[in-house]
Amino acid sequence: MSVGPAAFLGLGAIGAPMAARLARGAGLTVWNRTGSRAEAFARRHGVRSAATPREAVGGARVVVTCLPTSREVEALLDGPEGLLAGLAPGALLLDCTSGDPAGSRRIAARLAGRGIAFADAPVSGGTTGAEAGTLTIMVGADEGVFARARPVLALMGSRIERVGPVGSGHALKAVNNALLAVNVLAVGAGLAALVKAGVPARTAVEVLNASSGRSFVSETLVPERVLTGAWPRTFRLALLEKDIGIARELLRETGVEGPVLDLAGELFGRARAALGESADHLEAIRLIEAQAGVEIRG
Ligand code: NDP
Repeated sequence: MSVGPAAFLGLGAIGAPMAARLARGAGLTVWNRTGSRAEAFARRHGVRSAATPREAVGGARVVVTCLPTSREVEALLDGPEGLLAGLAPGALLLDCTSGDPAGSRRIAARLAGRGIAFADAPVSGGTTGAEAGTLTIMVGADEGVFARARPVLALMGSRIERVGPVGSGHALKAVNNALLAVNVLAVGAGLAALVKAGVPARTAVEVLNASSGRSFVSETLVPERVLTGAWPRTFRLALLEKDIGIARELLRETGVEGPVLDLAGELFGRARAALGESADHLEAIRLIEAQAGVEIRG
């Protein structure tokens, strides 16, 4: 279905395959900070590329952003070439960044003053889910905005859920990713110990996956990426560390103690310092392997 003139800003690892889905159902214009990526995308998918955010959103009914954090989204609003200079009253901004609730509430308030609707709409399902259009999308918006957002998001995801007012999508996404991070650390350490104790890695994973300790990490990520030694780079560890920080802030604000999440945040902070900005999130397990002097393969 066509959703009318749309713009997509932020063609990163997950933004690009999401925008490719949108290109099928909307008259799309794309913008990316590194312009050559937007131009290559536009050639490949037969859509327009714009030189600035203002140009990208001119005439768009719906605008999707997918940047590292809410800070970059907020920074895109201002200036003569910014979003606010181009967005028309009545437009809808869907922020698919894994951002932070407070940042989203600030952005929504600024846009509301100009008659522009906003929803936070972070996604889960990774680059594979983005390519297949099967993402889970967690939406923070009022009912009316959600009704407008849904057909657009349906081009990119298969489970689209309004989870509460603006900011709630980001809160839920941050908790989800904090749980992912805890799992990565726990599964990595457990498997390293089992291999050192003489259990073949594949046997350990298969038995865990038929038992109560299984998780997305043990069922999908470890078999595809760790046992094979493939280590693809699809979701940066630095971004996961950012997400744990957002979850910890949520716990702080709500007065909930979460020492396990605190520790995961500290360990991922150290992993980020050791592995750098381009490492994949699962490479935290490589640090565990190095410390233990073992490889989890099989
Ligand atoms: P990447 O690091 O691959 O891409 C980041 C994108 O943001 C690029 O388009 C980059 O432009 C742009 N960007 C970076 N800094 C700025 C800036 N200051 N101003 C404008 N644009 C900027 O990230 P992902 O695509 O992986 O992630 C995007 C969001 O989606 C993040 O919030 C992440 O947590 C979330 N996410 C990612 C998933 C994944 O599997 N990768 C899964 C679910 C959520 P440039 O090309 O110029 O560098």
